[in-house]
Amino acid sequence: MAVTECDVAVIGAGTAGLAAERKARACGAATLLIDPEFAGTTCATVGCMPSKLLIAAARVAHTVHGAETFGIRTRHEVDGPAVMDRVRRMRSDLAQGVRDQIAGLPDGITRRARARFTGPNMLELDSGERIRAKAVIVATGSAPALPDPFRDLGDLALTNSDVFELEDLPRSLAVIGAGPIGLELAQAFARLGVRVEMFDKGTHLAKLPEETSMHLRRLLEAEMPIHLGVEPKVEARGQQLHISHEGREAQFDRLLVAIGRPPQLDGLDLAAAGVRTDSRGMPHVDPKTLQVGNSAIFLAGDANGDRPLLHEASAEGSIAGHNAAHFPELAASRRQLPFAITFTHPTAATIGVLPGEDDDLATGCADYADQGRAKVEGRPGGLLRLHAQRGTGRLVGADLCLPEGEHIAHLLAWIIARGTDVTDALRLPFYHPTLEEGIKPALRELCGKIDREPEWNEDEGYPPGT
Ligand SMILES: Cc1cc2nc3c(=O)[nH]c(=O)nc-3n(C[C@H](O)[C@H](O)[C@H](O)COP(=O)(O)OP(=O)(O)OC[C@H]3O[C@@H](n4cnc5c(N)ncnc54)[C@H](O)[C@@H]3O)c2cc1C
Repeated sequence: MAVTECDVAVIGAGTAGLAAERKARACGAATLLIDPEFAGTTCATVGCMPSKLLIAAARVAHTVHGAETFGIRTRHEVDGPAVMDRVRRMRSDLAQGVRDQIAGLPDGITRRARARFTGPNMLELDSGERIRAKAVIVATGSAPALPDPFRDLGDLALTNSDVFELEDLPRSLAVIGAGPIGLELAQAFARLGVRVEMFDKGTHLAKLPEETSMHLRRLLEAEMPIHLGVEPKVEARGQQLHISHEGREAQFDRLLVAIGRPPQLDGLDLAAAGVRTDSRGMPHVDPKTLQVGNSAIFLAGDANGDRPLLHEASAEGSIAGHNAAHFPELAASRRQLPFAITFTHPTAATIGVLPGEDDDLATGCADYADQGRAKVEGRPGGLLRLHAQRGTGRLVGADLCLPEGEHIAHLLAWIIARGTDVTDALRLPFYHPTLEEGIKPALRELCGKIDREPEWNEDEGYPPGT
């Protein structure tokens, strides 16, 4: 078969690959986009969106369940098949949107196939086609880890790839892995009436610093037991799972394995392209250019294992697309402020620089147990930690678990990204009574710690405890 020539070949049509192809084409490159399925992105099919759809249903159930706190009596029932049906219907619409976007790409640039390298600039597709590209972008994403002991459990063990296919809610669910995906899904199932227990061999939730992790754990444990620092034994007996640790045994209908999503590089044969990999099978990637070593290969999105988040996949696609189109001329991009959210309630987030990453940090805290608006809404509890550089007085990071924390996290990410000084942050308007004004005690504590007086007594007249 003849060899097809192009400027930039993109392997993988997920968020990173689509952004990469778009950018490379906008830069004038002749592109090819290769994917075995073109099913829609991981985000739309088995990731961000179906998980948020399940969380949305859980939030409604939780609100109705807690209505009596507000003097409102209701009778409610969770219809498991209807909940899962809505998740899948809405998910299908979102995935269809991505497929429509792919269908709208210029004629002849897509290849429905799996690709592997046969040389530095040569690809072979499982359709038999061979492609010579001046530069190649690998955007093959990641896949859930499912080690053998769990794989042997057959369909009793779920991952994010199949959990949204459940026709009904299980009666009970053990979740292994207390990272963002495990935590979000565990709490959602618990709120929908499933008996849930979580297990993790590590000691921190969702990669949070110790203090915030402990705070979040205490709040989440009101809804489900969380066992940290344990490696439970899992055994299938008939259609039940027996999970034992520390002399205790419990039975569950299903197990959700959420222990990480390693990059999907198997089968690409990077060695054939002359790419050297480390002991984990990962090549060296420059985070500013996304170039692999000195090659004409770029690694974007979850495939490089650096920041496995949607907005990063999209940004990395653009960086890789630009550099692949202009290869060997490369532009080093300034990366965005690190920013990660775990959509539990309270919501957890980390932003920017955290303690341990800079010796010159001071930290100011705000506890939301007594925060006015949080109490009004029946959701007291939460912790905010703001970090500033002692020398410059600039806010550089935060970690938190707060009611409606995704919104406060965004406000903080924006002012941190703008290099705002602690005293300037205190001069910003804070409306009363809001969850946002709960940030002020942390800012005031920081002012004290870095020896900066707020220029005026900014909250004279406000009621205490806000
Ligand atoms: C349950 C869950 C919840 C999440 N929630 C959030 C969230 O709330 N917020 C957030 O920011 N992120 C979230 N994420 C992470 C986010 O979904 C990912 O970071 C993002 O989707 C990664 O995009 P990608 O383009 O790197 O990979 P993908 O979208 O997975 O694309 C990879 C593509 O490569 C193709 N491919 C693989 N191998 C080959 C090959 N050899 N040849 C050709 N094609 C190939 C695949 O078919 C696929 O289409 C979540 C993830 C999960 C699993």
